[in-house]
Amino acid sequence: MAWDFETDPAFQDKLDWVRRFVEEELIPLEPIMGDFTEAQWTAVQEPLKQQVKDQGLWACHLEHALGGQGMGQLPLAQMNMIIGRCIYAQEIFGNMAPDSGNSELIAEGGTEAQKEKWLWPNLRGELRSAFAITEPFVSSTDPTQIETSAVLDGDEWVINGRKWMITNASRADFIIFMVVTDPDAHVYKRCSMIIVEKGAPGMDVFRDIPTMHHPYSEFGANGNHAEIILDNVRVPKDNLIGERGGGFILSQVRLGPGRIHHATRWLGEAERAFDMLCERTQSRMSFGKGYAKHQMIQAYIADSRMELEMAKLLTLRAAWTMDRLGHHAARSDIAMVKVNNAKVLYNVIDRALQVHGSLGYSCDMPLESMYRSARMAPLVDGANEVHTVTIAREELKRYEGVEGWPSEHIPTRREASLKRFAHLLHARG
Ligand SMILES: Cc1cc2nc3c(=O)[nH]c(=O)nc-3n(C[C@H](O)[C@H](O)[C@H](O)COP(=O)(O)OP(=O)(O)OC[C@H]3O[C@@H](n4cnc5c(N)ncnc54)[C@H](O)[C@@H]3O)c2cc1C
Repeated sequence: MAWDFETDPAFQDKLDWVRRFVEEELIPLEPIMGDFTEAQWTAVQEPLKQQVKDQGLWACHLEHALGGQGMGQLPLAQMNMIIGRCIYAQEIFGNMAPDSGNSELIAEGGTEAQKEKWLWPNLRGELRSAFAITEPFVSSTDPTQIETSAVLDGDEWVINGRKWMITNASRADFIIFMVVTDPDAHVYKRCSMIIVEKGAPGMDVFRDIPTMHHPYSEFGANGNHAEIILDNVRVPKDNLIGERGGGFILSQVRLGPGRIHHATRWLGEAERAFDMLCERTQSRMSFGKGYAKHQMIQAYIADSRMELEMAKLLTLRAAWTMDRLGHHAARSDIAMVKVNNAKVLYNVIDRALQVHGSLGYSCDMPLESMYRSARMAPLVDGANEVHTVTIAREELKRYEGVEGWPSEHIPTRREASLKRFAHLLHARG
């Protein structure tokens, strides 16, 4: 199949605008954004968001019916590769995780009443949300092990359990919880998604967990990751999203396309680190010659450029396949993008940091923060190992039942080959 990644000239103008906007308006605020109060942050964001809306580029991941642009995965990927250059740009463009995935989830599985109450205000930016699967005491890579439970008592769900690393939970107006509602059902039909609103009695969002990226809880607009105890939390029966027991299917709706969006933005971030790598290389010298003349540094640059170009092509192909053939057909491509782009992000930042020496390690540059943040990429959206298994499984399907080497049939193969050779000679006369 012939892939076509050509950009429409009108859309190229939009991409040029996005690049200028990110470089000139957003990146300059990065060094101080961690110091903003919530009120200051809101005041700063509004005019920036308005500029994005004026360009018709707000919430581009969503369909028209949901207030987005319905532009498709390929143009979105091209845009995300630029947006990723700035750590908070996704919020300004209306596709901030976890809100973006949550809006897709409610759009897919929610009732009209749920959409009125949570989806539309969420899309307008009036309500913030979080999404909670992970638990501290079980391997949440395998969500069939989840223990948090919800039991129906009259017209209410009674929820008990514990979740952690829940991004945005301490700021969220509502949280979507994955809980066990049907413990005796088939393993993939045990869980459901239920919404709990902020302040619900019994729900204690009791700490923002310091992480490698935010070790001292100095959270910027980039997010926070909370631990939550649910102790007999009662919510109305109607807070269930979709069908009872449909939690796994809904989680695939939510996590599937989202993975490629994050992983595409990682390439924008890696490109920014690449710029720093080259700028440093051109502006410094050692042992009597510029860094640009040191072959090992040249190798850092060449390796980074090759990895970036391969990652971009793979990402564009995955996006193109999603547009043409649907998410399922792109399953293996999406897994490759997730695994590969996480590695490229880390590699390029690491090389840029290395070439900056002590300056790179210092907090005077963004590289050390980018480096710490990049370490999450192989962990989130499904561990890289799990996606690697998906890729291998898909590949092996094409080899089912084939004979390997060495084989007891090798002499027979050789005979067949000789016969074929003789036949070709005979045919030639
Ligand atoms: C910054 C950040 C933000 C997050 N935000 C959220 C959020 O908003 N909501 C939410 O629900 N969760 C969130 N998470 C949690 C994240 O999704 C989980 O870390 C992830 O699901 C892994 O679960 P776990 O931590 O229990 O690790 P485990 O499941 O214990 O896995 C740990 C490691 O074991 C190995 N492993 C596990 N299974 C396999 C396998 N089958 N094959 C090979 N190796 C394997 C892998 O190396 C894996 O990284 C966030 C995590 C981070 C770091």
